[in-house]
Amino acid sequence: MPKLRRKLPMARITSFLAPALLSASLLSPHHASAQVDEQTRKLSHDIFQQLIEINTTDSIGSVSAASKAIQQRLLNAGFVPSDMYLGGPNDRKENLVVRYRGTGKQKPILFIGHLDVVEARREDWTTDPFKFVEKDGFYYGRGTQDMKESDTILATTLIRLKQEGYKPDRDLIVAFTADEEGGSSNGVDWLLKNHRDLLNADYVLNPDGGGVDLEHGKPVSMDVDATEKLYGDYQLTVTNPGGHSSLPVPDNAIYHLADALVNLQHYQFPFELNSVTRAYFDRLSTMETGDRAADLKAILQPTPDLEAVARLSKNPEWNSMMHTTCVATRLQAGHANNALPQMAQANVNCRILPGHSLAEIRQQLIKIFDDPKVTVRYVSDAGEVFDTAPDREQLPPPPLNPQVMAAVEKLTAKFWPGAPVIPTMSTGASDSVYTNAAGMPSYAVSGIAIETNDVRAHGKDERIPIDSFYRGVDFYYQLVKMLSGGA
Ligand SMILES: [Zn+2]
Repeated sequence: MPKLRRKLPMARITSFLAPALLSASLLSPHHASAQVDEQTRKLSHDIFQQLIEINTTDSIGSVSAASKAIQQRLLNAGFVPSDMYLGGPNDRKENLVVRYRGTGKQKPILFIGHLDVVEARREDWTTDPFKFVEKDGFYYGRGTQDMKESDTILATTLIRLKQEGYKPDRDLIVAFTADEEGGSSNGVDWLLKNHRDLLNADYVLNPDGGGVDLEHGKPVSMDVDATEKLYGDYQLTVTNPGGHSSLPVPDNAIYHLADALVNLQHYQFPFELNSVTRAYFDRLSTMETGDRAADLKAILQPTPDLEAVARLSKNPEWNSMMHTTCVATRLQAGHANNALPQMAQANVNCRILPGHSLAEIRQQLIKIFDDPKVTVRYVSDAGEVFDTAPDREQLPPPPLNPQVMAAVEKLTAKFWPGAPVIPTMSTGASDSVYTNAAGMPSYAVSGIAIETNDVRAHGKDERIPIDSFYRGVDFYYQLVKMLSGGA
């Protein structure tokens, strides 16, 4: 996760494209074609291929192999061993941290990129997910969208800058890490706990989110995830002595569980905005027209109009940005057709707004279910079940970083003219949760443009448009320079 692209309603897209802009985009290519030279193209292609073809799944893959492949390339490019750290909790989950030394005029920037990928089965795919396949203008392979394309871009950028002899005005730290998608050895978490000094930075850029949304080839927005929701699973369990189904009694495990879930179905967590979602809806309110614009303005008032909230909440994306959500995702109960159930169990998956902890939401769920027979336990990311939930929370978002926003604005105008830069809250979750919690404001910035209906991260036949990849290579190179005094 995440790479959740925000699907914008069509009305919005057409309404904010000024007529002049629309016609201009029809007359000329709406974005400049990738500017990368042949050498950079080959370098990034080769790294991309190499990373895709190293299986980094949790089940049988090795993140270490990918870390070492990048390390070797960096050594070949002139990075010294003392500016690199390779390590992790076990020999399959080694992370790589590299430091590109600058003059120290500004505090370092930390870039993070997870190397692990979601499982992929050959029989589900048209191509071999662990072969880098070029087809119909796309590169196919597991991780082409999430996020080996961005790992490649980070590695390529480092090598390019080194070969140029570029001297940044600050250290550039890049951490390539394990177990973002699952597993029990999250690399960012592990590095922060064991080698915090290697990661200290002014702020963090994480290309595992954000990016350019395309609609029929037109760039409609550049999203910068400036905060994100917190992920939490809760396990509901009801147990019962059971008995013969010919002699039912009112006290039934399935009914208890079902009633609890119906309570949840009818419950709406409170409406709440933070600095990022407020800026997002504010921006949206100027792009929309009519009733929708009025509703958007109404929710931004000091006393928000809750009827407007209800109308806008019919859009699942907006609903998720305005509320903590909890939804039943799994159910199992009973052991025989002719027996009263001895156990009924469900999983409820929550996406929690910044500022609320896993423990707090568990307490709230207990109130919502309102049934002492329903036990509510917390399920960790590694699948372990606990009687209580941790106090962990996503901190409320820090103010947007003006330096980052200005650079992204400038480059977006150059690469995807007309596309507004929109600060967003990811409704998914990424490794930024750890860096944010460590006090380093973290932003998901990506120069990858993807059709909103072609998001294949975690899915089958994952692919990236070839052109989009090379433009992303160029975008990040220019971004890094811009943020480190080079442009
Ligand atoms: Zn990801």
